[in-house]
Amino acid sequence: IGVLGVFALAGMFTTSYAQSDIEKRVEELLSKMTLEEKIGQMNQLSYFETNAELLEQIKKGEIGSLLNIIDPNEVNRIQKTAMENSRLGIPLIIGRDVIHGLKTVFPIPLGQAASFNPQLVEDGARVAATESRELGITWTFAPMLDISRDARWGRIAESLGEDPYLAGELGAAMVRGFQGNDLSSPNSIAACVKHFIGYGAAEGGRDYNSTNIPPHLMHNVYLAPFKKAIDAGAATLMTSFNDNDGIPASGNDYLLKDVLRKQWKFDGFVVSDWASMSEMLAHGFAKDSKDVARISANAGLDMEMVSLTYHRHLKELVEAGQVSMTDIDNSVRNILRTKYRLGLFSNPYVDTNKASTIYSQEHLQEARKAAVESAILLKNEGNILPLKENLKVAVIGPLADAPHDQMGTWVFDGDKAHTVTPLKALQTEYSNINYVYEPVLAFSREKSTANFEKAKKAAASADVTIVFLGEESILSGEAHSLSNINLIGVQSDLLREVKSVGKPVVLVIMAGRPLTIERDLPYADAVLFNFHPGTMGGPAILDLIFGKANPSGKLPVTFVREVGQIPMYYNHNSTGRPAPEGDIMTLDQIPVEAGQTSLGNTSFYLDSGKNPLYPFGYGLSYSKFEYSGLTLSANSIPMGGTITAKVTIKNTSSVDGVEVAQLYIRDMVGSIARPVKELKGFKRVALKAGESQTIEFTLSTDDLAFFGRDLVKKAESGDFKLWIGTNSSEGLEAGFSIL
Ligand code: BGC
Repeated sequence: IGVLGVFALAGMFTTSYAQSDIEKRVEELLSKMTLEEKIGQMNQLSYFETNAELLEQIKKGEIGSLLNIIDPNEVNRIQKTAMENSRLGIPLIIGRDVIHGLKTVFPIPLGQAASFNPQLVEDGARVAATESRELGITWTFAPMLDISRDARWGRIAESLGEDPYLAGELGAAMVRGFQGNDLSSPNSIAACVKHFIGYGAAEGGRDYNSTNIPPHLMHNVYLAPFKKAIDAGAATLMTSFNDNDGIPASGNDYLLKDVLRKQWKFDGFVVSDWASMSEMLAHGFAKDSKDVARISANAGLDMEMVSLTYHRHLKELVEAGQVSMTDIDNSVRNILRTKYRLGLFSNPYVDTNKASTIYSQEHLQEARKAAVESAILLKNEGNILPLKENLKVAVIGPLADAPHDQMGTWVFDGDKAHTVTPLKALQTEYSNINYVYEPVLAFSREKSTANFEKAKKAAASADVTIVFLGEESILSGEAHSLSNINLIGVQSDLLREVKSVGKPVVLVIMAGRPLTIERDLPYADAVLFNFHPGTMGGPAILDLIFGKANPSGKLPVTFVREVGQIPMYYNHNSTGRPAPEGDIMTLDQIPVEAGQTSLGNTSFYLDSGKNPLYPFGYGLSYSKFEYSGLTLSANSIPMGGTITAKVTIKNTSSVDGVEVAQLYIRDMVGSIARPVKELKGFKRVALKAGESQTIEFTLSTDDLAFFGRDLVKKAESGDFKLWIGTNSSEGLEAGFSIL
């Protein structure tokens, strides 16, 4: 029946083994393997960098995984060699960075986080998994769960924001989406939670930089989302590049063995980041590449991505007694178990006869919905938005028609020919709108002001101008940190010039990170912020601008006023000198020769004040929501008990909308100082014009637990404050205690 026939047949059987059955098969297989074959499973190569010997190596069982093959026929050819021509017929697991969609590109993860919608995130990952599996990818290196509190860091784009609760909920949702109910189903791929750990805390936001996260913060903030995603079944985990307090993550036996394996009972496999093991040489943590292999194997790192130190040295290290056979066997068990769970042994091939779902209407509509829910309305002076469709519109700026940049970072496979930009949407779906288009700047960094006069002329000829500014996709992502996060180039000047014409201006931003836009606000009547919104960003943005959809996104990160305020995040601890309520004296108000004490000696910058530009959780709607009647089910609860908070939200406007209600708490006194606020719940509440609804949140004392003085996770008795509201700095307040 030929190779294709075999693939088609194989596609008809998807076997999902019972866990006990898998364990039996793993042990049987393991008992037949030579040391060399075991080490082979622990070796991952990049297809980009392989050569003619690849198939020979696979025949010898020297490779457990490949990343970056994207041709299903090639996957089948290679897999056939592994299945039929290697001694034990162990399938390869094929990895790829499918970070926010494969071909159909969704908003960057930071944008998806703004939706505060786990179901949306899950559905997006499902689409990505379906498209990936079609091309032979069985493993994605996502979700990235690095808590990110520094907008200079380029990889904030890939994160789910600054808050461990939000990142954990959405990370778990993404894992469910990639993996489905059954990892062996033909639409599922293995997830990989990364980067373990602390990578987002890179000093100064400079990528790959050292981190200094002390134990309590590590457990309460940085590890928390990983735990949630692993509890949701994440199949694999990736170590990070950084050293934390001197220990590179790929050599951290405490975190990999004690925390991940013993405490969390993780039984999937751990992969290094790209050469993160051999980078321990540059860190000064290993003396040569043999030492690298020894350190990582002893730390419990199962698979090495591309740097070949296991391949070259593990055998010798085992023979010399420097790496134990137990560690090797455990690593191989973890890898084989995952391959069985994925169904790769019984169904290793891509069914190339299956009808394609790539760029299907269904996938594009999901991506559009995600882009709508990810947009955040930051300003809407005089309710200028939504615009009436009979207005004449001037469309200006480098992001109005930037099909590549709109997709954002980590897009290996998305084809820009499929991107619908705002301009394209105006030419197609919104062709009833009367518009004039002047790009003025060809890309965000362009410095020429030569076309500014054209922009002004276009603005003068229209009723309203929409200015599309932001960042090219190359300005965020890995190794793309910035020390200045203003709108780059002459974009702010362009905005000012356009505003000088005297007509209303709507500013639409597409960027990979939060930007410092305070100086731009006076020149825009409305601001709609989109973290790079993906393939369907254009129509999604027009739906919002013309009122077919109502903004509901909320900021998953604090927007600072000045870059020098970073790090600034809502869930910080309190100093002994917290800033006073209300106004504080600004630099301009301080009298000359003022006495030292006239400022109150509190903790803030004299020039940029105590507040961010926009707090975590902030985002406007065309509707108006009012919160009232916050009540708690009890004033105090016993340890182990629960408390229910109820609140009524009314849509007092004439527009249907969705409000993301947010619940925060403060543990007033703890065995270690606790944050001034912590998100503990959120709900998307759809309210018709005029409608009210009473919603409730129930918290158990476990939800209030944290790693205290003794580094054991538990709740502590005492008083709590609780807020429910529209963002992290506004809300109704109540109090209760745990007895
Ligand atoms: C990144 C990882 C990614 C890997 C494989 C590394 O440079 O840090 O996040 O998964 O490459 O492409």
